[in-house]
Amino acid sequence: MDTEILLEMNHIRKSFDGLSVIRDISLSVRKGEVLSIIGPSGSGKSTLLRCATLLEKMDGGELIYLGEKAAWEEDGKCVYAGKNKLKELRGNFGLVFQNFNLFPHYSVIKNIMDAPVCTAGAPKKEAKEKALKLLADLGLSDKADAYPYQLSGGQQQRVSIARALALSPKILFFDEPTSALDPELTGEVLKVISALAAEHMTMIIVTHEMQFARELSDRIIFMEQGVIQAQGTPEEIFEAQNERVREFIGKFQ
Ligand code: ADP
Ligand code: MG
Repeated sequence: MDTEILLEMNHIRKSFDGLSVIRDISLSVRKGEVLSIIGPSGSGKSTLLRCATLLEKMDGGELIYLGEKAAWEEDGKCVYAGKNKLKELRGNFGLVFQNFNLFPHYSVIKNIMDAPVCTAGAPKKEAKEKALKLLADLGLSDKADAYPYQLSGGQQQRVSIARALALSPKILFFDEPTSALDPELTGEVLKVISALAAEHMTMIIVTHEMQFARELSDRIIFMEQGVIQAQGTPEEIFEAQNERVREFIGKFQ
């Protein structure tokens, strides 16, 4: 197994208006690894992902992508790398949100081509070919010219996965990718994520789909009140002796 570390978070801290939401979290993700994060609502999972993906500024701690520092601590404060460096580091990852976040006024193909063309400066023709290939892979070839409102939630979420893949990210982050979907549409999205895992895509997935996390993950983190309460292989977590983990997982069975 390749053991290259793609992401390292060290002693991350974050509060909102004096409320400590992330309290000293450290984790690392290796190439090809699937890491799931589970835990009760309000435990800081989304905030942790937002800090990891530079959407939210941390109060303290260190964030390292592929050995390069995006943020570090100096005199008790968190300092970020310069604009250009952050832009370069952002190119390493893709993000898929709970609510799809597609551009409503863009067609499917334009949604997928937008970042490669407008942010990464890829030639239009190349970006279009890649977008069409991604749509074909995700079973959406006939939807290239459709608009988001014409699609089911499951189809919209598959488009947003295609959009995240369009920049050939080294890591994909998912924040509850199926929480906004009806149960019958959840499966089609989980299937796409499973296929990516089979191709050894490195992924960090916040999810309440316990069975899915159990089957797919190399490692699971259980978060509560801004700290990692437990972590381990799916077996270790699901057969945990830790009472809080057992109680939490029990709610889904
Ligand atoms: P989770 O994703 O595990 O449900 P969140 O990271 O969304 O948890 O939220 C953790 C806590 O941080 C919650 O108490 C939430 O209200 C608070 N919080 C999150 N984002 C903000 C924000 N932008 N401003 C103020 N409080 C926030
Ligand atoms: Mg959340």
